Amino acid sequence: MKIADIRLYPVRLPFEGHFATSRGTVGAAATGLPKVFVKMSDEAGHVGWGEAGPSHRWSYETLESVVTTLRHYLIPLALGRDIFDPDGLHRAMDAEIAPGLTRGQPIAKAALDIALHDLIGHALSIPLWAFFGCRRAGQVTLSFTLTARSPEGIEREIAEAEERGYRHYNMKIGANPSEDIALMAAARARATGVVWADANGGYTLPQALAVAKAMEDLGISAFEQPLPANRWSDYAELARRVRVPVGVDESLCSVGDLLELLRLGASPLFVMKVTRMGGLRPARICMDIADHAGLPVLGSGLTDAGVSLLASCHLLAAYGVSMPAALNGPQFLGGDVLESPLLLEGDTLTLPEGPGLGVSVDEEKLIRYRVDI
Ligand SMILES: [Mg+2]
Repeated sequence: MKIADIRLYPVRLPFEGHFATSRGTVGAAATGLPKVFVKMSDEAGHVGWGEAGPSHRWSYETLESVVTTLRHYLIPLALGRDIFDPDGLHRAMDAEIAPGLTRGQPIAKAALDIALHDLIGHALSIPLWAFFGCRRAGQVTLSFTLTARSPEGIEREIAEAEERGYRHYNMKIGANPSEDIALMAAARARATGVVWADANGGYTLPQALAVAKAMEDLGISAFEQPLPANRWSDYAELARRVRVPVGVDESLCSVGDLLELLRLGASPLFVMKVTRMGGLRPARICMDIADHAGLPVLGSGLTDAGVSLLASCHLLAAYGVSMPAALNGPQFLGGDVLESPLLLEGDTLTLPEGPGLGVSVDEEKLIRYRVDI
């Protein structure tokens, strides 16, 4: 069965609030949130949906680069390929768009990979969690992202999150070590569940060592991406010298990256972000490696809308990940493109039973939010 048609839908989804990391604003109401949806069809008329979430202050991929890379390079080589050969699609995509330090343009590639997995699920009439080897639909707990820059602001955000049924928190740090420690102290004092912090590469090694020590005293559960993405020897030194689990996000875009980090002993925690990995196939291989290596897994995302959020949750549920996942699309998005809402109650998402991702995309919503590129 061959891939017969692929359509692209670049959109800007309504965004609520303001989302900043140590690298600047990554989401605001004025600009909306850029996404690229992909509709992939096979010869029998089965349809699969994919989603790319470029965030140009998080990595180098932009709304425009995802669209032109898919349109001019990746879609032409995907058309006509066997739908049951995700590995072959990845080999072809990685040959066409070469690596930089690591996998090249993983977010664009993830859109096709997710669409192909949804399509396979429809062709086989099974949900993705079953395709990944899980025997029944599971649930995934989501965390709330704290972005305030004052202890009072953190307390207000937690009060708002509790009203919405959240119990666990990932927080953004990396701007100023002493201020960040005060923010974490406020969060840890007020929150009932798990709290971990993500510096998005904002610290030097001496700063990260000092912040890690404070995290251990406060009871912060994990330290995500403390250092810039390519400082792997510094990650190894940090992991050797601190007790709080250090995880890398921006640094890890391929299976080879995870193996190298394991060899260096540089990341005692696997931050699983499906789109950063290039999609579900490479992410799944890393989940197997993490499982066999005894590496804990932390689910993460890029303010995903329903398609890529569900792709992540099918994988997390199939592998029984119990840590809450930092998939904050439901927190920040004021609109999605699904025909029916996610099965989300408080902070708990229940996976659908239908084939593939288990949801349908409303193409009228895609037209409503569409931008021309
Ligand atoms: Mg992160």
